[in-house]
Amino acid sequence: MNDSYRHKGLRRKLAAEVRSKGIKDERILDAIEKIPRHFFLDSSFVEFAYQDKPFPIGSGQTISQPYTVAFQTELLEIEKGDKVLEIGTGSGYQACILLELGGRVYSIERHYALYVKTKKLLGQMKYSPKLYYGDGYKGLPAFAPFDKILVTAAAPSIPEALIQQLKPGGMMVIPVGKANTQVMKKIYKTGPDSYEEKDCGHFRFVPMLGDKAK
Ligand code: SAH
Repeated sequence: MNDSYRHKGLRRKLAAEVRSKGIKDERILDAIEKIPRHFFLDSSFVEFAYQDKPFPIGSGQTISQPYTVAFQTELLEIEKGDKVLEIGTGSGYQACILLELGGRVYSIERHYALYVKTKKLLGQMKYSPKLYYGDGYKGLPAFAPFDKILVTAAAPSIPEALIQQLKPGGMMVIPVGKANTQVMKKIYKTGPDSYEEKDCGHFRFVPMLGDKAK
């Protein structure tokens, strides 16, 4: 894994592009500048790594567009030490951003092959979120409650189990809707059994699918 000055230069440009699209949190822009996104793509596609675009990562899945990663992260208002649950580990790039912001990160992936590949890569990169192979619809009840929950696949509706696993005062960011376009929702858990939601624009994610896959 080679991270050259050229890659660093491309990352600086990418961070500037994401800033120009409206992201203000400097910690997130710094994380984009720091994390070698080209490590998360197969080596034959390295030249695509620093475009502000999503990209296929195998098993029919994609690494999200950097702007979208930044947008979701900004909505979550991560504070150092927050216990964060991510649904849809995918390439692991988003999990690394959350770690750079000081989150204690738990992440679930339903594709076994992706889970294995990402666990190995992040280990090599010395990032150590807690990774699980499982169904994100169920969350991780054994480790609940979480300060923040981030869903990185399109959910048909807000999963009840995830709301339950959020701390009162906690927040969840989740794209909700059908295949073509989803509404980004920010959920505030206002009490043990109550929450409020806010719509934050339209996005397009791969669908959140039920149960595990080999
Ligand atoms: N956060 C990822 C983006 C992944 S795309 C990144 O930074 O690269 C969405 C991911 O969600 C895919 O890897 C997909 O396999 C996964 N996914 C879809 N449904 C899921 C479910 N029910 N539980 C866990 N992961 C799921």
